[in-house]
Amino acid sequence: MNEIDIAKEKAEIVKRYRSLLSACRPNTSKEDRKRIRQAFDFAAEAHKNHRRKSGEPYIFHPIAVAKIAVEEIGLGTTSVVCSLLHDVVEDTDYTLEDISEYFDPEVSRIIDGLTKISDIFDQTTSVQAENFRKMLLTLSDDVRVILIKLADRLHNMRTLDSLPPKKQLKVANETLYLFAPLAHRLGFHAIKSELEDLAMKYTEPEIYNSIVQKLADTKEERNRFIQSFTQPIRKALLKEDMDFTILARTKSISSIWGKMRKKEVPFEEVYDIFAIRLILNTPEKREKADCWKVYSIVTDIYKPNPDRLRDWISNPKANGYESLHTTVMSRQGKWVEVQIRTQRMDDVAEKGYAAHWKYKESKTGESGIDKWLRRIREILKSAESDALDFIDDFKLNLFSDEIIVFTPKGELRTLPIGSTALDFAYSIHTQVGDNCLGVKVNHKLVPLSQPLKSGDQVEIITSRKQHPKPDWLNYVTTARAKGKIKSALKEARKKQADEGREILERKLKHFKIDFNQDNIQKLVDHFKLPAPIDLFYEVAIGKIGQKELKAYATELEGGGILSYFKNPFSRSKDSSPQQQTVQDPIRQQLKDKPDTLLIGDNMEKLTYSLSPCCNPIPGDDVFGFVTIHDGIKIHRNNCPNAVQLMSKYAYRVVKAKWITNKSIAFLSGLRVKGIDEVGLLKNLTNTISSEYNVNIRNIHFDTHDGTFEGVVMLYINDTQHLNNLIKKLKKIKGIQKVSRIGKMEASS
Ligand code: MN
Repeated sequence: MNEIDIAKEKAEIVKRYRSLLSACRPNTSKEDRKRIRQAFDFAAEAHKNHRRKSGEPYIFHPIAVAKIAVEEIGLGTTSVVCSLLHDVVEDTDYTLEDISEYFDPEVSRIIDGLTKISDIFDQTTSVQAENFRKMLLTLSDDVRVILIKLADRLHNMRTLDSLPPKKQLKVANETLYLFAPLAHRLGFHAIKSELEDLAMKYTEPEIYNSIVQKLADTKEERNRFIQSFTQPIRKALLKEDMDFTILARTKSISSIWGKMRKKEVPFEEVYDIFAIRLILNTPEKREKADCWKVYSIVTDIYKPNPDRLRDWISNPKANGYESLHTTVMSRQGKWVEVQIRTQRMDDVAEKGYAAHWKYKESKTGESGIDKWLRRIREILKSAESDALDFIDDFKLNLFSDEIIVFTPKGELRTLPIGSTALDFAYSIHTQVGDNCLGVKVNHKLVPLSQPLKSGDQVEIITSRKQHPKPDWLNYVTTARAKGKIKSALKEARKKQADEGREILERKLKHFKIDFNQDNIQKLVDHFKLPAPIDLFYEVAIGKIGQKELKAYATELEGGGILSYFKNPFSRSKDSSPQQQTVQDPIRQQLKDKPDTLLIGDNMEKLTYSLSPCCNPIPGDDVFGFVTIHDGIKIHRNNCPNAVQLMSKYAYRVVKAKWITNKSIAFLSGLRVKGIDEVGLLKNLTNTISSEYNVNIRNIHFDTHDGTFEGVVMLYINDTQHLNNLIKKLKKIKGIQKVSRIGKMEASS
């Protein structure tokens, strides 16, 4: 590096620092600015030989994080100081002691928290979600740790380009899984949308780019429309002397994509790509009245859809969102969403509670922020049901497949969602489960079948005399508990059967029937039981007693015809042929030709199979997931399970890439919707079979009141091949929609 560069760089650092200072200025005293300066000097010194992956001086990063903390999250001086220092202990030779020598205890406590969280995130990702949960649940220190971490993540996402692709995917998925929902819950709408869009750019680059392109292509047309739509509103509001701004807000890329997927429509059919936002400047006490006044003006001009009125002014959302939404019919016959809110509401919506508290305590600087921080901390910590909703919702979003509960000693246990008190007992130890007499949840006695919620504290009461009952199978949901109960029941049954065997032997002697295998089998058949053990058992519990045996003996004497009657249903239960799954032939085909798929950087040959949850085909962006029993499974990058897999088990994810091989056919599914017309099905199948190399595996159609909906499963070479076909199908008269399905829904 030559000297000119360094001089330039220094100037750039100073420039960025100044811009941070001016962002802080409205809320800082001279003393505050001194503290910020001190932190900046310290960080600049600590990171001076340090560069980011992009080659930039490292200090650019802490400055940017601090700026986000102030401008976008709304934090105060202490947080700016901590943001500047957030990577010092983590990444340089300076220690926490060094920090506490120069800065007050509050700062070193937050830095300590930030360093600890970083440790969590640097571990193999499998434990990460778990730790993130612990971090939230046991969060007792300072909520600023989390908010600064959020700022840190936002800046890292904004600069994700300079990381290697594998790392990009990991960081992007982690962001989708943990940080975007967190931002959402805390009410940082702008940050949440940005995080989701940035993540999508890396997880689904093609879709992302195509939506960006389409938005750009349609921009002019959209602007013209918006202009003509807002014109009459503008005029009417001016006439009423209202102070307002009209904005057109385009949906984020990821939410457009979300809509396309959910409704199975192409970009062109997402009707609410943008919304019109009317922002009023009005004193707080007139807010509600004025918003409704504007609503009345707008709906005088355009007819509203009564089903789409949302009043979040009277009932704000849990994360603080306030706004009045309506959807009206434009003169061009298109629905348009109109959001009506005040400047204050808009700030809260974009910046979360921080903005909210700024309004509440506008002149007292940090104290408003302190209050807000206390509120978040309370929300996170509180055990009240209402406030706990926050955590519940948050965890529901995040970890929808798991709950976390505590032992009486405060240890954490993770269970699948829906787990009951008895599941918990079995998760501790088989013996604890088997002897489970009662359960206390949060110090109250509950039924064994009680479903547990995250955060419950569970205490098991055991008794040596207690043993599993057949009912218990209905009380549990985990495979582990079910398995344990079944084997205990089987064990108990076996014991009883042994007793029953002796009883039966005695009784048969009485009827002068030999106790041998042949006769036992005849009895088994007579009573229509599956096996001798069941016979012994029924004898033991008295279900087959003297009376039944006597009837049998009499019958035997009277000719014994019945005893040779074999009930065809009484024998082995699993004689029905195992249904071959649709995937099998393909899997087999692939196994024979492992070279068609490259897995891993070193091109090792590994066994793999295509995951049935998303049916990937060549051309799809895919990754491999190392399963425990089933080799490597290939999933589409946009598989609904992918985010979770990547985030929770990143270490088990391997890179996968297709090498096109036209000779292999892959199973894929299409959902077709349209109007039921004569000859439609024939046209459809003709079109499919005229396409080179496409074979229909099965086809299933339902018609209903003149419409039809069908699922076609077919063998296809790759995405291009499939897209060609979709295009052709769409041209068929009567067909309105053709979409690819991820799940295999058609039965064989
Ligand atoms: Mn950082």
